[in-house]
Amino acid sequence: MTADLYCVMGNPVEHSKSPWIHARFAELTGQHLQYGKRLIALDGFAQAVAQFRAEGGRGCNITVPFKFQAAPLATQTSPRAELAQACNVLRFDGDRVFADNTDGIGLANDIRYNAGVHLDGLDLLLVGAGGAAAGVLGPLIEARPRRIVVANRTLSRATALVERHAPLAGRHGVALATSGLGQVEGSYAVVINATASSMSGAEVPVPASVLKPGALAYDFMYGPAAEGFMQWARDHGAVARDGLGMLVEQAAEAFLLWRGVRPPSAQVLADLQGEMARAA
Ligand code: NAP
Repeated sequence: MTADLYCVMGNPVEHSKSPWIHARFAELTGQHLQYGKRLIALDGFAQAVAQFRAEGGRGCNITVPFKFQAAPLATQTSPRAELAQACNVLRFDGDRVFADNTDGIGLANDIRYNAGVHLDGLDLLLVGAGGAAAGVLGPLIEARPRRIVVANRTLSRATALVERHAPLAGRHGVALATSGLGQVEGSYAVVINATASSMSGAEVPVPASVLKPGALAYDFMYGPAAEGFMQWARDHGAVARDGLGMLVEQAAEAFLLWRGVRPPSAQVLADLQGEMARAA
């Protein structure tokens, strides 16, 4: 029996741990699949998806910078991907293409179950308004914090994101606001860096004054690239957490969507942390 094919598509993609995670999920759940990574030309996403489907691909993850380009290729889009206007998962069933976004539920599950932090009633700062931030804002609202401020380098992107989520925030009684990066007012119990700053080796894009003492400071990046942010957080009295748990949890939701089986994500996160510590 040939293995079902999956992959992650991105640019860059070399750093991705998704192949390792899905191989471990498959091993632990007895699923027969192969999961690779594909570096896609910046103007070649749609062709790459068509090519992968022609090769028999059953689904793919999508990472930087293609998350906004996936929905137009789908015949059906999940409500959460619709709200985010960004997708990190495609599933191929014959002629049908289903687009979803599991980043948000992955982040929410990691914060709640792996980090043990309950967001209800807290003040959150979400830094960034790209594909990843768009994917997490809905699930963060559903966790019912008191307030979420979305700060981004390009303020208009933060404004558009907040306007789109205003009805959901209203239903959950969550206050939403926007800010430029240099002008963030106040301090927050949870600060989430959803920008690509760590990936490009840039400075932490907000001042340390945003951190309440003991705040959870969360970077979407992981591994050595996240170290600058993690050190900044520790230096300013925050609890630092990188995006490895989110990566594993969003992958678990994608695996469930593709295979109908929920993998043991906490075990795989612990395995991956051990694997990365050995390799360091
Ligand atoms: P994207 O759509 O390209 O958006 C990039 C975001 O970063 C935008 O908000 C952009 O601001 C901002 N940005 C880039 N460089 C910056 C800098 N030097 N200073 C301040 N802001 C900067 O990318 P994405 O898909 O949202 O991904 C963002 C990051 O999240 C990537 O590092 C990605 O690897 C990571 N991620 C991790 C997981 C996980 O599971 N751990 C999941 C998804 C994504 P402008 O709008 O002003 O351009």
